[in-house]
Amino acid sequence: MDAQVRDHASQHDAIADLPLVTESARVTRVTKMDQDRRPEVTQAINRWVAEAAPEYSPIGGPADWDGLHERLLADGHQSVARRVATLAERYDRPKPMLARVELVTESDVDFVAGQYIGLRYDGTSRAYSLASSPTRDTLEICVRRVPGGRLSPRICDDIAVGDEVTVRGPYGELVLADTSSRDMVFLATGTGVAPFKSMIDYLFESGRDEYQGKQRDVWLFLGAAWADDLPYRTAFRELARERENFHFVPCLSREPYLSDWDGETDYVQQALLKHIDETTVATPIGAPLDKRLEDGPGSGELPSIDPANVDVYACGINAMVYSLVAAIERLGVPANRIESEGFG
Ligand SMILES: Cc1cc2nc3c(=O)[nH]c(=O)nc-3n(C[C@H](O)[C@H](O)[C@H](O)COP(=O)(O)OP(=O)(O)OC[C@H]3O[C@@H](n4cnc5c(N)ncnc54)[C@H](O)[C@@H]3O)c2cc1C
Repeated sequence: MDAQVRDHASQHDAIADLPLVTESARVTRVTKMDQDRRPEVTQAINRWVAEAAPEYSPIGGPADWDGLHERLLADGHQSVARRVATLAERYDRPKPMLARVELVTESDVDFVAGQYIGLRYDGTSRAYSLASSPTRDTLEICVRRVPGGRLSPRICDDIAVGDEVTVRGPYGELVLADTSSRDMVFLATGTGVAPFKSMIDYLFESGRDEYQGKQRDVWLFLGAAWADDLPYRTAFRELARERENFHFVPCLSREPYLSDWDGETDYVQQALLKHIDETTVATPIGAPLDKRLEDGPGSGELPSIDPANVDVYACGINAMVYSLVAAIERLGVPANRIESEGFG
C-alpha cells in the first residue's frame, strides 16, 4: 500500500495515479463495536419511572413496557413516556449494530485516505469507506447494520475470520485538501466517520496537522444516538489526549436517557455552531443559527473555529449531509472548502 509514499503535492493528484483493481481478500479480524446494554436499559426505565411517576413503581419487565408507555401517555406523563419508548427500542434492537472488519488482500491495494471500496461477500456487493490509514498493511471497514438490508446484517452476524471477500476499487474523491494554514473540521454521523478515521490517522502520521511550523486545529464532530454507537470512540479519545490540536466532540442525542452523559446532545451541525468563535462571524446570520452561536459549548472545548479559515469535510446519510452543507455555507465557509460524501 504505497500510494502515500509517492510524493504528491495534492491528494487529488494521487487519486489520478491509482489503478482500479479487483482483489481477493481474507477476513483477518471482526470486532463488534457496540455493547449489550440491556441491564442498563432496565435500570434506567425503573429509575425514570420511579422519579417522574412513582405511582407506577414497581414496574414489570420488558414485556410490560408497551402497556406502561400507553398508560403514561394517557395520564399525561409525556416526557417519561417518550423515554420509556426510546429505551425499550434500544433494548429490542438487533445486536451487534456496528462491526469493524479487517481484511488482507493478496496484492497491495493503493488508495488515498478517504476513499472507498466495493466489497463483495457471498454474491452481494456494497460500497464501504476504508477506515484504515493507507500506511497500514491491512484494510479496514466499519459497517452499521441496516435492518432488513441484504449485506450489512450478514456482515454484522455472519462474516468470520478466514472468509473470502472481493474488494474492488479504490473509488471516491473525498480526500484531504492541499495542505494549508487552515484548520480542519470533520462532521459525521455514525459510520460516516469511517473515511475520516483514515484521513485523521493519515494527516497526523504525515505531519499535515502542521503548516510552516504552525499547528492546525483538527476538529471532529461525531453524532450518534448512544455512546457505544460511536465508531472508534476509544481511538479518538486517545488521540485527543495525545494531541492538543485534535478536538473530539461526540454528540449523543439519546445517551442521557441511559447514563450521566453531560456532553453535547445536539445534532452535529448545531454542535459545530456552538464551537464557532463568535467574533469571526458577521452577525446576524439569522435565527436559529444566531441562537446556537450564543449557547456555550457542552464539550469543554473553547469555541475557537473561524469559518473563514477552515476546510470542512462532511459524511453520512444524504439528508444529514445536505443539511450540514447548507448550515456550513450559511456560516460563510466558501463552497470550494467543503468536501462531502453521502452514503445514500
Ligand atoms: C460511497 C459510500 C460509502 C459507504 N460507506 C459505508 C461505510 O463505511 N459503512 C457503512 O455501514 N455503510 C456505508 N455505505 C452504505 C453501504 O454501501 C450500504 O448501503 C449499507 O451497508 C446497506 O446495505 P444493505 O445491503 O444492508 O442494505 P440494502 O439491501 O442495500 O438496503 C435496504 C434498504 O435500506 C435502505 N438503506 C441503505 N443504506 C442505508 C443506510 N445507511 N441507512 C438507512 N437506510 C439505508 C435502502 O434504501 C433500502 O431501502 C456507503 C455507501 C456509499 C455510497
